[in-house]
Amino acid sequence: MSGAGPDWARVRADFPALRQQVRGKPLVYLDNAATSQKPQCVIDAVRQYYELHNANIHRGVHWLSEQATIAYEGVRKKVARFIGAPDPRECVFVRGATEGINLVAQTFGRTRIGKGDEIVLSALEHHSNIVPWQILCEEKGATIRVIPMNDAGELRMDEYAKLLSPKTKLVAVTHVSNALGTVTPIREIARMAKTAGATVLVDGAQAVPHQPVNVKDIGADFYIFSGHKMCAPTGIGVAWAPLALWNSLPPWQGGGDMISSVSFEKSTWAEVPAKFEAGTPNIEGVVGLGAAIDYLSAIGMDRIAAREKDLLAAFEAAILRVPGARIVGTARDKAGVASFVLEGIHPHDIGTIADREGVAIRTGHHCAQPVMTRLGLPATARASVAFYNTPEEAPLLEAALRKVTEVFRA
Ligand code: PMP
Repeated sequence: MSGAGPDWARVRADFPALRQQVRGKPLVYLDNAATSQKPQCVIDAVRQYYELHNANIHRGVHWLSEQATIAYEGVRKKVARFIGAPDPRECVFVRGATEGINLVAQTFGRTRIGKGDEIVLSALEHHSNIVPWQILCEEKGATIRVIPMNDAGELRMDEYAKLLSPKTKLVAVTHVSNALGTVTPIREIARMAKTAGATVLVDGAQAVPHQPVNVKDIGADFYIFSGHKMCAPTGIGVAWAPLALWNSLPPWQGGGDMISSVSFEKSTWAEVPAKFEAGTPNIEGVVGLGAAIDYLSAIGMDRIAAREKDLLAAFEAAILRVPGARIVGTARDKAGVASFVLEGIHPHDIGTIADREGVAIRTGHHCAQPVMTRLGLPATARASVAFYNTPEEAPLLEAALRKVTEVFRA
């Protein structure tokens, strides 16, 4: 990319899925918080892996297996550089953010959290960062406490301070809310948790695709994210923690690759990260993740963040021009997500009619039902942007929403 910044039209042209028409209209894809589209280079990397290098990793002495292992472990180094992890071994490949959080619940949680202990979550959490802790608390007799939010969707830091106590064993909070787009003050949240002696898990599923992330700088103990929201294939994600923390935890899933030796009497475990990567992993997903990281890095995460800020402003303004529209989630610091309602119209109807215009938005509770309950809404419509969206798509969303209002207010 030149110093002048990327040519965004050329960037968009890298995404074959965005060239299609749906329902006879050009596709306006605004469901990026659910999953991103994939650039040609990621699609090619996966295809090339199968055409040239497909083999199982780590165990083979033959050339192909060596090539596949080199590719797989090479991506671990890329991931580490991308998120500022000091050692690639700290990056454990998982199926996605959901599996990463469950991994932490079943290893850290099961060994370090007991009866009477407390886990602090926030009102903004995705179900993936609630339910694993509920399952754990039920088993262990621990309790969940929740950092409340204000009407704008910002966390109440004064209330958070009151929740922290010697009973707090874990603070598990999202970096960016998928339902409202709120960017949480994650450094401050982590700092306060550490001062209270708690371990910190950050759900980075909506942050890593949209802004530069440095896990050391944030001060978290665990940082988790998915590949499919950042131009990589589905079924791959990363759970990061410092090596000493991973080393101190027991394995979770048992099977091939995670052992050092096995006998019927006793088995011993492989070193981290293999200890947490039982079975044949998603090699194609890892290869695709590597290509996605190269692609995003070539554009620059800071440029992506700036572009998406401008796009979000354009889309929010377009939504607000529609009679009866209200943006849900008006935090000062927001990323990529415009949740909204149209007065008197159910969000599912908004989504269905927008789809007829070729505009793909999401409607529902966005796997964050407590957010909806707190705001007194059953659901919202959500337009979520990526850097390959264009300002020219904002009026197309507006036109689709006007159609919705015409249908319902005729
Ligand atoms: N956390 C957040 C904030 C999310 O947005 C998502 C995905 N919607 C998840 C966790 C779960 O990610 P995945 O479905 O990729 O496991």
